Amino acid sequence: MTMNVLGFAAHSAKDALAPYAFERRDPRSDDVVIEILYCGVCHSDLHQVRNDWGGSSYPIVPGHEIIGRVVSVGPEVNRFKQGDHVGIGCMVDSCHHCSSCESGLEQYCEEGATFTYNSLDRHDHSPTYGGYSEKIVVSDKFVLKIPDGVELKGAAPLLCAGITTWSPLRHWNIGKGSKVAVIGLGGLGHMALKLAKGLGAEITLFTRSPEKEQDARRLGADKVVLSTDEEQMKAVKREFQLIIDTVPYAHDLNPYMPSLAIDGTLVLVGYLGALDKMLNSVPLIMGRKSVAGSVIGGIQETQELLDFCGEHGITSDIEVIKIQDINEAYKRMLKSDVKYRFVIDMASLKE
Ligand code: NAP
Ligand code: ZN
Repeated sequence: MTMNVLGFAAHSAKDALAPYAFERRDPRSDDVVIEILYCGVCHSDLHQVRNDWGGSSYPIVPGHEIIGRVVSVGPEVNRFKQGDHVGIGCMVDSCHHCSSCESGLEQYCEEGATFTYNSLDRHDHSPTYGGYSEKIVVSDKFVLKIPDGVELKGAAPLLCAGITTWSPLRHWNIGKGSKVAVIGLGGLGHMALKLAKGLGAEITLFTRSPEKEQDARRLGADKVVLSTDEEQMKAVKREFQLIIDTVPYAHDLNPYMPSLAIDGTLVLVGYLGALDKMLNSVPLIMGRKSVAGSVIGGIQETQELLDFCGEHGITSDIEVIKIQDINEAYKRMLKSDVKYRFVIDMASLKE
C-alpha cells in the first residue's frame, strides 16, 4: 500500500519543474507522516535538477528545507504527536552503526546517508522525493523539533543553509572575540552572518556585489570587503581564524589566503569539484593555514542549531513564493538575486 502525493518535479536536466503526482510508502512503525507547510529553495536543488554534480535520477522532486505538521505517527514513535511542528533537512536515514553515525555525524555515514531526495530508501530501495510536495514520510530519528514561538516559514532555511554554516562555526570553536569571514551573500552566506553574530564573533563579508553592503551590515557584518577590489582585499591581511566559502561555482581561492591568520582555515561549503585556479601552497605552508570542506551537520547538531535559533530569535530573511513560481525563482538564484532565501508556501500546491 502507498499514499498518493502531489508535488513538483523535473523530468530531465533541461526541463522546467512541473506538477507531478507520485506515491510515498505507507508509514512503517518508526515513521512520522508530515504535512508540508513550507519548503526552502537551496542552490543545491538547482544543481541537482540540472545534474551539475552528475548522478541525478529523474524525476527529481527537490527540497530539503522542510517545515511541516505531524499528521500521524507509527506505534514505535514517542517523541512526536499529531499537530507538532517539525523539520526535515537534507537526510532522512543513515546506517546507524558506523563510527560516524555513532558519533552523531550521520552526514559522514560510512555507508552513505540517505538523502531527502535523489537517493534510494535503504529498506525498500524506492526513490526518495523531497519537500516540493504536500506530504513526506520520515523515520522519527531524522525528524527535528521546531521550538515554540519560532516563525515557521523563516525557520525552513535553518534545515540546510543554517546547519551547513553552523556546523563549521561550531567545529572551529567560533565564539566571542573570534574573527570570521564569509564569502558570498546568498542563502548560506546570510545565515552564516546571523549565526556567527549570534555566537559573538566579529564578522566580515566578502562579496562581488557592492549593492549588498547595507543588507550585509543589517544581517550582522561588521565589515564588507568587495572581493573584486585589490586595495580592499589587501586591507584584511592575516585577519581571520575562519573563512566560510559559500560560492557555488569554481572560483579562485588564492586571493583569500592572505586574509587568513596563522593557523586559519578556509572551509569550502559551496563548491563541489576541482579548484580553478590551482591553489598555491606557499601561503598555506608559510602560515600553517588550511583549506577544508564540510557538508551539512548531524541530526543532534541540527537540533542544537534550531534550539539556539529559538533562544536567540534567529530565522532566515525570506521571500515567500508559490510553487508555480519555482522556475522563475531558479532564474533569479542564478543571477545571485535572492533576498536571501526563497521559501515555498506549500498551500499553493492546491491552487
Ligand atoms: P545562493 O543563495 O545562490 O548564494 C550563493 C552566493 O555566492 C551568491 O549570492 C553570490 O554572492 C555568490 N556567488 C554566486 N556565484 C558566484 C561566482 N561565480 N563567483 C563568486 N561568487 C559567486 O546559494 P546557496 O543556497 O547559499 O548555496 C551556495 C552553495 O552551497 C551551493 O553550491 C550549494 O549547492 C552549496 N551547499 C552546500 C551544502 C553543504 O552541506 N556543503 C549545503 C547547502 C548548500 P555575492 O553576490 O555576495 O557575491
Ligand atoms: Zn541545501
